[in-house]
Amino acid sequence: MLITHDTECALSILVELLNTAPEACGSEQLPDIAALDGFVVRQEISEIDSLTAQDLTAVHALRGRLRDVFAAGSTAEAAEQVNAVVAAAGTTPRLTNHDHHGWHIHYFAPHAAIGDHLAAELGMALAFIVMAGERERLRNCEAPDCARVFVDLSRNRSRRYCDSRTCGNRLHVAAYRARQRSAEAVTAG
Ligand SMILES: [Zn+2]
Ligand SMILES: [Zn+2]
Repeated sequence: MLITHDTECALSILVELLNTAPEACGSEQLPDIAALDGFVVRQEISEIDSLTAQDLTAVHALRGRLRDVFAAGSTAEAAEQVNAVVAAAGTTPRLTNHDHHGWHIHYFAPHAAIGDHLAAELGMALAFIVMAGERERLRNCEAPDCARVFVDLSRNRSRRYCDSRTCGNRLHVAAYRARQRSAEAVTAG
């Protein structure tokens, strides 16, 4: 798969962002500016100036538009949605090696507002996924009581559940039972 480490990092931020939505986890995880500020710190999002109420509104709106890409009915539809997100933000690709990171590209304009910053970076990460023909890796968790999303970066695209504590455990239990079954089959055979 032609997905770079930087894109993987952006996809991880994307998943974290989408899973803060009330539709994903039952309650709004970014209810105020302090929560958004916490998100910026946790996700190590660089070049963000002080946040305003307008930023919070912009991030909530962006979150919905990015989630729509996961639900797109076709690649053409996904491409159109990604293009719209990125175009609205505007991008100014530039090489940077800030904070001892290796050289990488920032797509957001210098000191862009967080909504535009995330739209450029996360929109471009989705653009790379679509371009690589890997749109099916954008998944909804299959647990019946879970509406979180994840990006399946496993080699054989076999992941079914999100990273949440409940679903992650479900995954481990399923794997454990499968191992037990095959062990029993060996003993019985
Ligand atoms: Zn950077
Ligand atoms: Zn889940």
